[in-house]
Amino acid sequence: MTEAIIGIDLGTTNSLAAMVFEEGPEVIGRAGESPIIPSVLSKTSNGWIVGREALPYRTSAPSQTVYSVKRLMGRDIEELEEEIQELPYQIVAAQRKLVKIRLGDHEYTPQELSAEILKKVKTESESILGYPINKAVITVPAYFDDAQRQATRDAGKIAGLDVVRIINEPTAAAIAYGLDEKKEGYVAVYDLGGGTFDISILRLSGKVFKVVATCGNTHLGGDDFDRALSIVLKEKVKQKYARADLNDPISQQIFKQVAENLKIQLSSSLEADYQIEIPEKSISYQGTFSTGEFDSLIKESLDQTLSSCQQALEDCHLDVSEIDEVVLVGGSTRIPSVRQYVERFFQRKPNVAIDPYKVVAIGAGIQGHLLAGGRRDFVLLDVIPLALGIETLGGTFSKIITQNTTIPTEASELFTTHVDNQTGIEINLFQGERELVKDCRKLGQFKLRGIPPMQAGLPLVEVTLHVDANGILTVSALEKRSGQKASIEVVPFHGLTQYEIEQIMDDSYEHALEDFNERQLIEFRNTVEGVFQGIEKNWSTAENVLSDSQREAIRRQMKVVEEYSKGTDAQSLKEQMDILGDLTRPLADAAIGNAVLSELQKSPASS
Ligand code: ADP
Ligand code: MG
Repeated sequence: MTEAIIGIDLGTTNSLAAMVFEEGPEVIGRAGESPIIPSVLSKTSNGWIVGREALPYRTSAPSQTVYSVKRLMGRDIEELEEEIQELPYQIVAAQRKLVKIRLGDHEYTPQELSAEILKKVKTESESILGYPINKAVITVPAYFDDAQRQATRDAGKIAGLDVVRIINEPTAAAIAYGLDEKKEGYVAVYDLGGGTFDISILRLSGKVFKVVATCGNTHLGGDDFDRALSIVLKEKVKQKYARADLNDPISQQIFKQVAENLKIQLSSSLEADYQIEIPEKSISYQGTFSTGEFDSLIKESLDQTLSSCQQALEDCHLDVSEIDEVVLVGGSTRIPSVRQYVERFFQRKPNVAIDPYKVVAIGAGIQGHLLAGGRRDFVLLDVIPLALGIETLGGTFSKIITQNTTIPTEASELFTTHVDNQTGIEINLFQGERELVKDCRKLGQFKLRGIPPMQAGLPLVEVTLHVDANGILTVSALEKRSGQKASIEVVPFHGLTQYEIEQIMDDSYEHALEDFNERQLIEFRNTVEGVFQGIEKNWSTAENVLSDSQREAIRRQMKVVEEYSKGTDAQSLKEQMDILGDLTRPLADAAIGNAVLSELQKSPASS
């Protein structure tokens, strides 16, 4: 085989690598761990700390810790006035108007610091793959000029990489979707990351992309959303702790962390709880935040991104109707309202089937593969890799769409309540191949409210899962008697590598038998509970229609069933339930229409 060429997305906030494996293109990562390497490095007495481990140093050693170094690449000191004010580390002028970063008594060029990030990407990849990596395709923003591209190339060289090619990030994203396979057309790439927003319009002709317009804002992104959310959270805490000073670095960091986590949760849930703990100040605060509140916080920023989109179109004299494909890039495009804004503006559904976090690296990996002489014979994500479904009573996973279903697809199932007068049902979405949700991945949740009070078992809740051609999953719940509806949109498969999917499959085979028993136990126990309630409710009927000895036999068998339901053997429990079923049959017949008692004769329903 020829030597592998990996693709590297060297981002302002995060970096990651990808390549084409036998199964197809995928990011390089360890199963169960995030493949993302934060673009942060800190200089310590023991040398460089790079990536995730360097994150805490941003607060504990801010003057020794460098982030956003991409902003400095290939730039003159004069161009950087604004940046220099904002970055906490020391930036100094070097010869030929270039800049250096002073850490302790040493000065470093941005290239050298970027090289440390690339070295980390290289060594991590090598340790995961088990063989050396010498060649890479590295991506840069479409607006990077020659000096900035050269600086990136040099960073690669310092890191010991042969930079086979520098390609544009939007081009890489388009390649990841195989859009280069089409003959011609216009592609808009909307990239909203941590600290920057870029819109690029590409023209494809003869399988080659040309950037025809770029626009954006180098200071707009997820960090701004975190900041806006922090401010709101701080105000809330202030209402309870009026005299607390919340502006010290530790509190700031806690607020930022809570805000980012909350923001990420709100991408897959209509509301989310948060908790702010600052033990040093005896502050403990809990609250709930809704996507509605969050959307109004980011609305202005999103409007700005659309103005840039408009500008870009004007610059290349195109009308939105002439755009053939829209591609989303960057972690912040996981926010549902961002997707909605983009869809409304471009009047078409954006491509999101590939995780917007990974899509640039994957495109670069494909480009590397092609440059190494590889063929483009893989298909991308046109099936559901792992089953999708919801949580039902007792933590069981009820699959609604099965693994390997081709998209687009839709499936529905009916559920009901288990408690009398239940007016709300929480729908928790999961993806996986195991029988219990605790072994699956949670994708999101929402609540169906306003169900009129009814007896348990009467509401008919239809849950529908729809996955469109772009891989967007819409889940809706409809209570058929009252017409109450609720829904949520999420993108599944995010963050899973091919390895992880394989791992999950292996686990599911390995645990198939014990999972099945555990699931049955939960279902049988639920049935027992319902049946016992049914028996108690109808005991007065029993006194009329059953003999003393029949009633005693039922009581005795109920005790036996109770004992077995505390055990762990689903099959034996079922046998004892069947005996109880035989004993209570005359009672079930007498209490006509009593659904609960007749349940003993069939398999259990879910909530
Ligand atoms: P960059 O290209 O600047 O390196 P990324 O594409 O890695 O940036 O995006 C990082 C940003 O994405 C961060 O602000 C992070 O909080 C945000 N982000 C990641 N996941 C989500 C999510 N599920 N919902 C909302 N924002 C997210
Ligand atoms: Mg990026």
